[in-house]
Amino acid sequence: MTMASSSTTSPLLVLITAMAVAALVAAPVSSADLPSGVASIASKILSPWSAFNNLTGCHFGEEQQGVAKVKDYLAHFGYLPEPSSSGGFTDIFDADLEEAIKVYQRNFGLDINGVMDAPTVTQMMAPRCGVADVINGTSTMGGASSAHVHGRNLYTYFPGSPTWPRSRKSLKYAITQTSLTSIDRATLSQVFARAFARWSAATTLNFTETTSANDADITIGFYAGDHGDGEAFDGPLGTLAHAFSPTDGRFHLDAAETWVASGDVSQASSDVAVDLESVAVHEIGHLLGLGHSSELDAIMYPTITSRTRKVDLASDDVVGIQSLYGGNPNFKGVTTSPSSSRDMDSAAGELSRPWSALVAVAAVAAGLVVAL
Ligand SMILES: [Zn+2]
Ligand SMILES: [Zn+2]
Repeated sequence: MTMASSSTTSPLLVLITAMAVAALVAAPVSSADLPSGVASIASKILSPWSAFNNLTGCHFGEEQQGVAKVKDYLAHFGYLPEPSSSGGFTDIFDADLEEAIKVYQRNFGLDINGVMDAPTVTQMMAPRCGVADVINGTSTMGGASSAHVHGRNLYTYFPGSPTWPRSRKSLKYAITQTSLTSIDRATLSQVFARAFARWSAATTLNFTETTSANDADITIGFYAGDHGDGEAFDGPLGTLAHAFSPTDGRFHLDAAETWVASGDVSQASSDVAVDLESVAVHEIGHLLGLGHSSELDAIMYPTITSRTRKVDLASDDVVGIQSLYGGNPNFKGVTTSPSSSRDMDSAAGELSRPWSALVAVAAVAAGLVVAL
């Protein structure tokens, strides 16, 4: 891989990030029972990856408790091979870790310095899809550094570009495992129908729900923890869901999330609420053959902020899916607004909420990197 030219941190980015952190620290604590420091509370509640916060500034050559967990994280998402020894990873920040972090930083449009700097730590803590960004050692994400300048598309496919057979224009899906969710069946049907409709609008594919799992090409279900496919879920936030490439058809959601299936997720009572339809639109992209995109605005970007709705395909998603399945002549085109202003607005609105602020910083930082 190559070093990007954008190795200097923008002063504006630093300023905005500092303001966001200041807002986080200054945010009111609503309960007298909370121990000192909103940030530490937020990190405990926010994510199974919150301990990464303790590694801010950690770099090559250091040995620090928790580095092994970062290696586990990067191995899970394809940036490092699994540890060769049965004892697992060490806490030594070695050259392999530095290289893996650089690839991660390139994929997420961060400064490429191989250091666990604050924007990198924040991005790593953001809730995300469980599907790897790097598959078989090849980065499937394009890297965001110069894409906007050149208008390059950043959508990706799985290795070998698996798709559903071109002759199959109609696919059936079944909602097969709902015992671990309190969302009623009718609401689930509506949410997934709307999510599939985003993709059928842009392509020649169409999707219908069936009640028979045996009859279905795609199965959707809610699962907790280790559920038998080697991709254990991790409780609230962290990994939200995952789906398999064509023609596997499995789409699993982490039952431990505070899923919001109707109403305005930004007004949800829970600070860790996640919009079900937004995640469904993303995972359906995987079911159809799309990998992750470095385009912040794309549905196929790997992370999503809690309490945020993101259901519109970006042009990056549309070009990617249409080149696999052909375009729908009736498609009216993408309706999304430019990424920078929209994400800045939503992030700014979130900053008054202490438990969302950490993830909002990621949105602000990522938005600025892309906008600059
Ligand atoms: Zn994904
Ligand atoms: Zn699974």
